[in-house]
Amino acid sequence: MAQRIFFATSEVYPFSKSGGLGDVMGALPAAMQNNGQQTAVISPLYGRISTGNFRIRPTVSDLPVGYPWAPITANVYETVHHGVPHFFIDRGEYFDRRHYYNDPVHGDYFDNAERFIFFCRAALALLEHLGVPPYMVHAHDWQTALLPVYIHFLRRSNPFWANTGTMFTIHNLAFQGRFSSRLFAACGLPQEAWNFNGVEFFGDFNLLKSGIAYADAVTTVSPSYAREILTEKFGCGLDGILRQRELNLHGILNGADYAIWNPEADPYLPCQYSEQDMSGKQGCKDNLISELGLDPELKDRPLLGFIGRMRGQKGIDILNAIIPDLVRMDVGIVVLGEGNPIHETIIRELMEAHRGRVAAVIGYTEDLAHRMQAASDLFLMPSRYEPCGLTQMYALRYGTLPIATAVGGLRDTIIPWPGDNSTGFIFTEPDPLDFLKTIGQAVQFWTRNPVGRREMIRRAMRQSFTWDKSCREYIDLYRKIRLRLDQ
Ligand code: ADP
Repeated sequence: MAQRIFFATSEVYPFSKSGGLGDVMGALPAAMQNNGQQTAVISPLYGRISTGNFRIRPTVSDLPVGYPWAPITANVYETVHHGVPHFFIDRGEYFDRRHYYNDPVHGDYFDNAERFIFFCRAALALLEHLGVPPYMVHAHDWQTALLPVYIHFLRRSNPFWANTGTMFTIHNLAFQGRFSSRLFAACGLPQEAWNFNGVEFFGDFNLLKSGIAYADAVTTVSPSYAREILTEKFGCGLDGILRQRELNLHGILNGADYAIWNPEADPYLPCQYSEQDMSGKQGCKDNLISELGLDPELKDRPLLGFIGRMRGQKGIDILNAIIPDLVRMDVGIVVLGEGNPIHETIIRELMEAHRGRVAAVIGYTEDLAHRMQAASDLFLMPSRYEPCGLTQMYALRYGTLPIATAVGGLRDTIIPWPGDNSTGFIFTEPDPLDFLKTIGQAVQFWTRNPVGRREMIRRAMRQSFTWDKSCREYIDLYRKIRLRLDQ
């Protein structure tokens, strides 16, 4: 096997996905291959992955994992998907669970640190087992953040790792994997890593911070978010270490996978459509209105959609606060998401109070997300922060005009109305009144200016956030890292 770029991730679509990370990992490695790179993916074999569906077969059994808690082993499974080898680390007691990181009733799994420290160490063992030093190990989010740290220290003692570069991508700074210092003592890193500029964070072991501190380069998923996280407001306590690494911190915008998110060929849609023939979009809307039991007269009124985790980040509370006002604007509202039970309860109550006007589906349903993107006219994203955001990119492609806060990747992907090039509506503060006012403007524009609306929809659908541009930026960074290491 030639020297490869290995992506280490806790989610990869279509095998596993709880949000944007899964989508990105499902697309980026294949896009890299199309750009001439050799890539492979390593992720956990969760119990919910159906090996039969994807021809996943066992290839290594009882791989010894130098694992501090106990001398245990991992099994490795493998498949090739879109030309990219995918390796799955199997250890039933860690990954054969209903959910990825937490269960809805009890919260985070108590052994998350142990699970993902094990995963990182098993990935190292697998890479050594494969026998060819990787060109690059590219880790993502806190679950795999220890890989760059281990490799940093292994370089000193093990020639296998001497020239392997490491990159660490932050998909969301708020999820840090913060654990007791006791776990540091057990994870097998040298004591010198335990310091203010290393893995320690207010007396705790912070995995995300560890990756930031030790990777050869750190990236995040949009240029605006890369700037924002250097500030106290968006830094989640890590702005200090990020500022220290500023010269090696880069914002590379995520792409959208248009092979999956394309209204012309989306198999989940009842009617497909294109910029040239939009009739199918109305068909999707009519269909969803009857499926969700909304008033048929909404077929001629704007339909507002929200898809996302029901967490403060996504501003679901900001939306909930103005739903009665929106109903008075004579629009329909469709919501899909799951998360905080408080927000779930409130949206359920709002649905009860405004039957026929508001429909909420609590849960995670891939096909409904596609159908809602197609059926909605306006797409709501009142996020308090947004590292990149993929749903607004999908909305644009589906001719669903986004209404979003001016943060992170939303700023980098939506051209604000008014303006000749506008593709959506932006408001400054994640505040219910600002949001309501902007929705009011968007609804007026939508209803009173059919020509302007059609043009804006056309522009939105022509936006193209392909992975190729991002790939070139990653490849350039990989090259610079390797030049430094090979010197
Ligand atoms: P996140 O911050 O959650 O990663 P993104 O906008 O980057 O947000 O990506 C979210 C991805 O998860 C999109 O593919 C979106 O369609 C999907 N998604 C979010 N919530 C749901 C849900 N309840 N059901 C189906 N898909 C969902």
